[in-house]
Amino acid sequence: SYVGIHSTGFRDFLLKDELIRAITDCGFEHPSEVQQTTIPQAILGNDVLCQAKSGLGKTAVFVLATLQQLDEKPEAGVATVLVMCHTRELAYQIKNEYNRFAKFLPDIKVGVFYGGTPIQEDIRILKDKETHPHIIVGTPGRINALVRDKVLRLSNLKHFVLDECDKMLDQNDMRNDVQTIFRATPAHKQVMMFSATLSEEIKLTCKKFMQSPLEIYIDNEKKLTLHGLQQYYMKLEEREKNRKLNDLLDTLEFNQVIIFVRSTQRCTELDKLLRECNFPSTAVHSGIGQEERIKRYKEFKDFQTRICVSTDIFGRGIDVERINVAINYDMPDKADSYLHRVGRAGRFGTKGLSISFVSNPDDETVLKEIEKRFEVELP
Ligand code: ADP
Ligand code: MG
Repeated sequence: SYVGIHSTGFRDFLLKDELIRAITDCGFEHPSEVQQTTIPQAILGNDVLCQAKSGLGKTAVFVLATLQQLDEKPEAGVATVLVMCHTRELAYQIKNEYNRFAKFLPDIKVGVFYGGTPIQEDIRILKDKETHPHIIVGTPGRINALVRDKVLRLSNLKHFVLDECDKMLDQNDMRNDVQTIFRATPAHKQVMMFSATLSEEIKLTCKKFMQSPLEIYIDNEKKLTLHGLQQYYMKLEEREKNRKLNDLLDTLEFNQVIIFVRSTQRCTELDKLLRECNFPSTAVHSGIGQEERIKRYKEFKDFQTRICVSTDIFGRGIDVERINVAINYDMPDKADSYLHRVGRAGRFGTKGLSISFVSNPDDETVLKEIEKRFEVELP
């Protein structure tokens, strides 16, 4: 099968009973290929640098590996696991995944910390031993602030994880925060990093944080394209986009659809327009207050809204089961972003459809780059 399912089961990893029970409750029957190759090494505490396709379960690799290695009754007030990623909603999602898998490990506390929320609340949680989490999930800016103010101590950290690691290390500000935080952790620890896209250059950067890691790569970029996903593009003029989108939403039988645009302003405008045309949509971009952003993420994830217009904030990592259509209303500016965006549809090998609007020479350049790199021809 194309998700790479083997006959091996999760039981063969010799995980704690509490984890096996949670895995069963999650409805996971068989480990995917990336879980198959990575979990056995990761639970031994080895460093891991892992590239694997979108939607095939990289999260469960680090969540299970760290939960497996944690004490069932960990010391109060001490953080041993730190997971960081590039957006607040993804951090929130990862925290929920931890809670899902730690369902039968009631003494393990997980906390999430990110910007745009009152830091006083974070401080209150971290100052009290009873509420201090053992597993910290967050975005680098807020985590760094908490470490700098000595509210969060990382001197007992045992596992350091970066999800979407290429994104986190190729932007200067985020990389600086990650490096500062890394320096506050003990020398001896497990480091794990994950992404669907890892350039040769980024691999070297990642490995500077690691000691003889297990390296799992996709040997041929062609293999990054999702088999369950049908990809199309449409050439049109900028002014024809709204009309075309309207037609598509009328015609396509979607469960949930995500529509990507290039700016917050375009996001607000398109969302408004869709609602005026009786398409009940929601918008997500950096101009929206954080509490409202999480609320909209939850509503979309819980299938209360079916149409989401977003900037690249939801372009990576976000896992919404019922998205089966991804539309690039504005073409992304890089092939990598394209791959991540369309990967929001067709999670875990389910069928999906992507449509990209190509309306100017720059869009065409990106389209060519996509076709060349992933050896696909978009009809
Ligand atoms: P990635 O990070 O590799 O893009 P995720 O970790 O977000 O992928 O997982 C994608 C979806 O697949 C999630 O909804 C997750 O719950 C589901 N999933 C992961 N592993 C399995 C499995 N072994 N069996 C069934 N579903 C799985
Ligand atoms: Mg992921």
